[in-house]
Amino acid sequence: MNYDHYTDCSVTLAADLVNTLDAVDGEERLPDPQTVVTFLTEHDISAVGKATPDDLAALRALRPRLRAVFTATDLSEAARLVNTLIEEAGALPQLTAHDGEPLHLHFARPDAALAERVTTEVAMGLASVLRDDGLDRFRVCASGTCADVFVDTSRNRSRRFCDPETCGNRAHVAAHRARRRAAVRR
Ligand SMILES: [Zn+2]
Ligand SMILES: [Zn+2]
Repeated sequence: MNYDHYTDCSVTLAADLVNTLDAVDGEERLPDPQTVVTFLTEHDISAVGKATPDDLAALRALRPRLRAVFTATDLSEAARLVNTLIEEAGALPQLTAHDGEPLHLHFARPDAALAERVTTEVAMGLASVLRDDGLDRFRVCASGTCADVFVDTSRNRSRRFCDPETCGNRAHVAAHRARRRAAVRR
């Protein structure tokens, strides 16, 4: 995949944010504002500062809307979902240079709330993927016990599991057991 660093980071953030709510067992991995700060800091969001209860609520509400992009079967529908997110977040692309960095684009308004900044960031990342590859790279894990989403960055777009080491391996073992059971019954 030849997405730039910004796109790479922001689509990873989008997928990881969706997966903070386990779609199979409902486990909540963003229980409070402090975990939002930790989560965003781990994803290299600059100057996270504090997360408010409003940020927490907004980011939780964002998850099903992002999942809808990952599971969309219609490109224009996915584009509409992403455009709506960008609009609602009040994005305002601006060239900027700070902290010794070269001139680059910021997409969120300077005074945007934390959740708006994150919404802008993930929506711009998803927009780049849609523009370059359509729906081809958006995936839901093929494991029977996991519904995590991910972006398939493999060259031939053949990745089936969110994590080949865990979900891929579990599915492999389950298939192996099923075949053995079938063999015994015969
Ligand atoms: Zn910057
Ligand atoms: Zn999985």
